[in-house]
Amino acid sequence: MRAADVEADLTRVLVTEEEIRAKLDEIATQVAVDYAGKDLLLVGVLKGAVMVMADFARALPIHSTMDWMAVSSYGAGTKSSGVVQIRKDLDVDLHGKHVLIVEDIIDSGLTLSWLLSNFASRGAESIEIFALFRKPEAARVVIDCKYVGFDIPNEFVVGYGLDYAEKYRNLRDVAILAPHVYS
Ligand code: 5GP
Ligand code: MG
Ligand code: MG
Repeated sequence: MRAADVEADLTRVLVTEEEIRAKLDEIATQVAVDYAGKDLLLVGVLKGAVMVMADFARALPIHSTMDWMAVSSYGAGTKSSGVVQIRKDLDVDLHGKHVLIVEDIIDSGLTLSWLLSNFASRGAESIEIFALFRKPEAARVVIDCKYVGFDIPNEFVVGYGLDYAEKYRNLRDVAILAPHVYS
């Protein structure tokens, strides 16, 4: 149950908590096969990937380690600026690691394309991407994303880690934010 004031900010639920769990199990099974016997490092992109990292890491039946990176490209708006800033860098050395970047959503792809080139120079054995959501119509940069949870329409969504002005991250489902909230 959501409070009426939260409910009023949402147009409709796009993906439910149950659908997300089922998808994470499916992708975790595939990742376990692909990374069997490898030194797998999950890199979560803060703060949006907190929920997907927590659930995905626990769904994964093989050994993995976790690290976090905080970048910002959006400010408080709903459009990517393309200017990426590191707010918190990785703690670990990427040499010899098989890196799987865990992202909440790819919109323009600008953030991930910047992260990929940043990581490429740090000596990782391999670098792949898992994005829970992808908005294909919005892609301005072609990103080779190995694992994708859901392709969604070109709407601004919130919940399950995704925010608008830092709110709504705690919603269990992913929902379309009502335009009256940001326009
Ligand atoms: P990109 O650089 O691919 O345009 O977007 C990068 C980041 O913008 C995502 O990791 C996410 O944090 C944020 N973002 C993109 N689309 C949405 C959206 O529909 N809702 C929310 N809440 N954040 C988004
Ligand atoms: Mg993100
Ligand atoms: Mg955000």
